[in-house]
Amino acid sequence: MRYSKKLGQCFLRDKNIVKKAVDAAHLNSKDKVLEIGLGKGILTEELAERAKKVYVIELDRRLEPFAQGITSRYDNVEVIWGDALKVDFNTLDFNKVVANLPYQISSPITFKLLKHNFDLAVLMYQYEFARRMVAKRGTEDYGRLSVAIQYYGDVEFICKVPPKAFFPRPKVYSAVVKITKKRPEDMLPLEDTQFFEDLLRALFQHKNKIVKRALLDSAHEIGLEEKELKGLLERLDFNLKERVFKLGVEDIVKLSNLLYREINLKNE
Ligand code: SAM
Repeated sequence: MRYSKKLGQCFLRDKNIVKKAVDAAHLNSKDKVLEIGLGKGILTEELAERAKKVYVIELDRRLEPFAQGITSRYDNVEVIWGDALKVDFNTLDFNKVVANLPYQISSPITFKLLKHNFDLAVLMYQYEFARRMVAKRGTEDYGRLSVAIQYYGDVEFICKVPPKAFFPRPKVYSAVVKITKKRPEDMLPLEDTQFFEDLLRALFQHKNKIVKRALLDSAHEIGLEEKELKGLLERLDFNLKERVFKLGVEDIVKLSNLLYREINLKNE
């Protein structure tokens, strides 16, 4: 078989890494797991041994013989042929996610998952991406991705994975990350999710600047003229002299809600 680069086909071959990832998910016989990307099924098999049910989504039909090999041995595995970005997750009843993700879709698939309810996810990413996901405020790797992910869950770095753990070998290191999803009632309330996302983009385009300067320089990202935004910022109860990369998730949620309310007051 010719491995498809476009589909991120670097298959795990190191069983220790498979075990480490599955251990991090603390599976029990009641768990229903979603996996994205069957490959040759090395991870699927370990999941099938430990969980009640495994849904695995795979796009490449050439992998059908591997799917058959697994489903003939495990009756708790269901293979869904299709694009994980298009499959409606509401039709699948799962509480955990474990996957060696195709790197091309790391970001959209993670945000698609985070809008869904589940207990935890253990996922493989490119190392640099993983570092940005888990970065704490005030550090070099901290940015828009860190805040956007940490808004939805607690993120933990599990282990760094060398290229030799896969075949074919990727050019870069990978890492396993665990996301423990916040329950809906524990999430910080947002006035408007889209506004929060726009604000993140505006702020982190200038992450070393103070908040006021960063926002004024990116006013267009939140649909405002610089002059108009300046007036609104003067009325906010927020320390606008703080550097953007020093703001925590809670601070940014507060800023987002204050500014959103101020904009709507002005439009009333
Ligand atoms: N789980 C296997 C392993 O660990 O060896 C395979 C992991 S491999 C990095 C990613 C897998 O995802 C490949 O089998 C690839 O064909 C599949 N894939 C790529 N894009 C996909 C998509 N959009 N939807 C579903 N599966 C996809």
